[in-house]
Amino acid sequence: MRTTTLTDERCHPVDFDDTPDEAAYRARVRAALAEHADELVHTDVDADAGEEAADPREQEQALRRTQRVLAEAGLVGVAWAAEHGGQGGSLAQQAIVGQELARARVPSLINHIGIGMCGPTVIAHGTPAQHEKYLARLLRADDVWCQLFSEPASGSDLAALRTTAVRDGEDWVVNGQKVWTTLAHVSDYGILLTRTDPDRPKHAGLTMFVVDMHAPGVTVRPLRQMGGQSDFNEVFLDDVRIPDAERLGEPGEGWRVALTTLLNERVAVGGGGNDLGLSVESLARLAADRLPALPADRQVLARQALGRAAVAALANRYTGYRRLTAISQGGLPGPEASAGKLAGTAAAKLVADAGVRLLGDDAVFAVGPGDDGGADGAGRWQRNQAWLPGIAIAGGTDEVLRNIVGERVLGLPPEPREDKHRPFDASGSAR
Ligand SMILES: Cc1cc2nc3c(=O)[nH]c(=O)nc-3n(C[C@H](O)[C@H](O)[C@H](O)COP(=O)(O)OP(=O)(O)OC[C@H]3O[C@@H](n4cnc5c(N)ncnc54)[C@H](O)[C@@H]3O)c2cc1C
Repeated sequence: MRTTTLTDERCHPVDFDDTPDEAAYRARVRAALAEHADELVHTDVDADAGEEAADPREQEQALRRTQRVLAEAGLVGVAWAAEHGGQGGSLAQQAIVGQELARARVPSLINHIGIGMCGPTVIAHGTPAQHEKYLARLLRADDVWCQLFSEPASGSDLAALRTTAVRDGEDWVVNGQKVWTTLAHVSDYGILLTRTDPDRPKHAGLTMFVVDMHAPGVTVRPLRQMGGQSDFNEVFLDDVRIPDAERLGEPGEGWRVALTTLLNERVAVGGGGNDLGLSVESLARLAADRLPALPADRQVLARQALGRAAVAALANRYTGYRRLTAISQGGLPGPEASAGKLAGTAAAKLVADAGVRLLGDDAVFAVGPGDDGGADGAGRWQRNQAWLPGIAIAGGTDEVLRNIVGERVLGLPPEPREDKHRPFDASGSAR
């Protein structure tokens, strides 16, 4: 076992090797992926996040099938309890599956939000009837899920949301608008955070529901990003009726339920030091190809950019291994996990920038479905560069994450939050 020389007691030494059990598990995962290779979607060589499919509907169906095959092979919901349809495995095993899927170039699961965030929230706060109704189907991508939290006037300050749910007999009637809802255009269900009591302080008057995305009154409008993709949507809710049986947690307990989602989101995104954009290995291959042909003055700048990107990406990866080592030894992600997304996003941006610098004009991509990413697919570097600012916002902006690191890791004084204890309607948030 090789270890770092770091002595800070908050840092786990890094164990780069699998334990014998983990090695055996990894071999089983590789064998299963090889056995089912023909039934799975695979990304092109070096293709990565930020790509737009030629036929999004066909791609959606193929990704649903891929998840079903993986679920039947026991490779989805690895760390979920068996009683919820999972494999009852460890988080380290789950991370191994993630690594092996990346190695086999299988793209992210279509239901990654359902598995990473919605499912754990339903498990923690749902009734047995909700567990029975939703979880197995979620794991197989029979139902795809989305997370309906952000609104035009509440993103970072999520508790200031204005979508209302009013009790009417056995139902609640919901009105409002959500925005940036990833996957809403292909979703069957969503977890929906609403305001049910405007007379209480903003965090105290919220309630969470499961909403049927095909219910009358739900309108989904895709948004188009600058990279050409439509990953997320506006969602309008007009007199949508939700049965009380679809409430998650008690009325007024929505913030506590949402914290479960947000905690899982941070672990899912910041997780195991995985590359959030194109990999440093892709960059190395591109550099071997393109660097020798660059004029001397551009070579110097490109080499500097390559060095900065490689250091940041590898530091992020090995910090991720430290988190996995802690998890593998039975621990929970510590303070370093909250900085994971911040560091991973910064590294991914440096990798994309270095690739674009190497490619020069060849990096320019044409926006449009089915675009192959420019000359020899080179445009995917700029497409990835255009996609990454969104990742620096999703699941907590860089600024908000820095606030968290300041307050919870460094112990700095908290931000002033003057509206925290005032009734929502009487606070600045409601205006
Ligand atoms: C790719 C992508 C996918 C997303 N998917 C989903 C989804 O599936 N479901 C969902 O509900 N939402 C989703 N979101 C929305 C996302 O959660 C919000 O965009 C995010 O929380 C920021 O909120 P906002 O856009 O309202 O920006 P604001 O909160 O208005 O922030 C604007 C600027 O002010 C800064 N700022 C805000 N507060 C502070 C502070 N206290 N201190 C310092 N700076 C601050 C921010 O960092 C930012 O630069 C997604 C967003 C993106 C980009």
